Amino acid sequence: MGIVKCVGILTSGGDAPGMNAAIRAVTRAAIYNGLQVKGIYRGYRGLITDEIVEFKSQNVSNIIQLGGTILKTARCKEFTTPEGRKIAYEAMQRHGIDALVIIGGDGSLTGARIFAQEYNIPCIGLPGTIDNDLYGTDTTIGYDTALNTILDAVDKIRDTATSHDRLFFVEVMGRDAGFLALNGAIASGAEAAIIPEFSTEVDQLEEFIKSGFRKSKNSSIVIVAESELTGGAMHYAERVKNEYPQYDVRVTILGHLQRGGSPTAHDRILASRLGAAAIDAIMEDQRNVMIGIENDEIVYVPFSKAIKNDKPIKRELVNVLRALSI
Ligand code: ADP
Repeated sequence: MGIVKCVGILTSGGDAPGMNAAIRAVTRAAIYNGLQVKGIYRGYRGLITDEIVEFKSQNVSNIIQLGGTILKTARCKEFTTPEGRKIAYEAMQRHGIDALVIIGGDGSLTGARIFAQEYNIPCIGLPGTIDNDLYGTDTTIGYDTALNTILDAVDKIRDTATSHDRLFFVEVMGRDAGFLALNGAIASGAEAAIIPEFSTEVDQLEEFIKSGFRKSKNSSIVIVAESELTGGAMHYAERVKNEYPQYDVRVTILGHLQRGGSPTAHDRILASRLGAAAIDAIMEDQRNVMIGIENDEIVYVPFSKAIKNDKPIKRELVNVLRALSI
């Protein structure tokens, strides 16, 4: 214990609201525990290009309410090569950084795992992604805020859908995970969600039409998860236009607005707890784990487990949506 003196912190991959709250929490908790903190800009790229500065408590003042990430984020191809990671390691040595906290998604934690194995560096991951697709944690930083953004957008779309008796396909983010689509559909009272998890099981559009779409309603909203597995909202709109030309179909792709905005209370609290726990983990000599939250308790999830496993969608949620959309 006690071998770590200086922690480097970076945000990597897709940005998510609440990353700033996590940066603040890691920085303050580290300083509280007597550690030095170095902020690394633009994810792993900042290690390679040497964009590294000392962070004091004031560096993270007034950021808890901000979306995005003050440390910036990037995707860095060079870091996926052994040569790139060697340059990154040398920068860490120059700056005296002896542990890393990485805030990011699946890809970022994969990079952390490889880096940690190669150079024997304690790496702690925080699940920062709106997609909620990391195994071993009930929720991820940014997911709740994105869900609320979807809710706000769909409420507005419903006004126009109802006025014109239209069928709307609303595409939401989530990569290959349907959490945003499914819970977004339940929360907004949408008629159905088309999610990648079930794309190979059933024809979800056919199910929706068969289940009596529009028997008792004059408008409908279907949330579609963006994914190669679903084909996206445009794909379904085209199908309906061809197969059911009597319906007035429209598409809205919510896109990057789902990534922005001030984090919700839930995401700020989550990020604060996870950030503080990352420093607890370092003080306890933990390494190569993602900090998660399960049943409201902090858990340490080995990278191998968090990355390799697909987080399952609860069937109960699918049943709730089906029952409530009649
Ligand atoms: P996310 O973390 O949001 O899933 P990406 O998948 O784009 O985002 O990954 C972010 C960064 O993590 C990549 O640009 C790269 O620098 C690093 N990374 C991803 N996969 C690997 C890998 N297999 N080996 C090394 N680094 C990786």
